[in-house]
Amino acid sequence: MGRTDGDCGAGFPACSADNGQAGKPAPQPFLRAQNVHRILGSGDAAAHILRGVSLSVFPTEYVSIVGPSGSGKSTLLYLLGGLDRPTNAENGASAPFDPPSRVFIDGHDTSRLGDAELARLRNEKVGFVFQFHYLLKEFTAQENVALPMLKLGRLSKSDAMDRAAMLLGQLGLAEKVKRRANRLSGGEQQRVAVARALANEPAVLLADEPTGNLDRRNSERVAQIFAELHATGQAIVMVTHDLALAQRARRMVRMDDGLVVEDRLLDEDGQPLAAAPPPLPEAVQR
Ligand code: ADP
Ligand code: MG
Repeated sequence: MGRTDGDCGAGFPACSADNGQAGKPAPQPFLRAQNVHRILGSGDAAAHILRGVSLSVFPTEYVSIVGPSGSGKSTLLYLLGGLDRPTNAENGASAPFDPPSRVFIDGHDTSRLGDAELARLRNEKVGFVFQFHYLLKEFTAQENVALPMLKLGRLSKSDAMDRAAMLLGQLGLAEKVKRRANRLSGGEQQRVAVARALANEPAVLLADEPTGNLDRRNSERVAQIFAELHATGQAIVMVTHDLALAQRARRMVRMDDGLVVEDRLLDEDGQPLAAAPPPLPEAVQR
């Protein structure tokens, strides 16, 4: 399995030639989109939503994805997290893509996984937070957070419930553990959704407009939680059209019309540090 410059994300200046890192093993991306295409619909109605996106996300990175509405941000996020699959010749493209359109999660080529295997990998390694929290409204906050743990099956019910209460406490919801989800405020529900996403200690947290439905105070709270998670080494990829929120990340990827058009590291103030390496042809991991 070869690594090439095509694997380098903006987050890893160590990938550049003159880095004093010679001889050290190169970091491996946790998520990698390789020439990812997504075509929805068929025939005259076919829409080429992603038109060849290559992006690597490394462990502990905090990346924001910005761009106009309809540019393909959510589509890319769901593909990176294995909620959807890229398009290739066998499922909708008129000709093969070169290199093939692929998503790798923790080194696994997801095109080689069946749906059940992919679902398991996702449940184990990826946490999702959506704009609409999708909590089970008749269940308590604690039960909602415990569910992914019970699904994964590593913890007993009582351990899962204990961990759920602990996570809710960390998110400032200790008093609301036993409250039914539909009796929580919008901001509280979104924090429950963050706790649920963290339930199985995901290697990466993927968030799609996590503050899109929140007022300023609750948005700030979620932004603060993400910053704290990042400080503890949690990898995060967050789609947002809120530029101030995007600047809280340490790397900003800009999309337009189904392509990545900019990829910059950010300093502590959210200002661009350096240009990402120029887009290079992705070498195929075979
Ligand atoms: P963003 O998150 O950047 O707003 P999306 O990834 O949601 O963009 O969508 C990208 C484009 O794909 C949009 O133009 C949207 O209308 C289109 N799209 C999304 N889902 C479908 C679908 N099921 N069929 C056809 N087009 C779709
Ligand atoms: Mg979207």
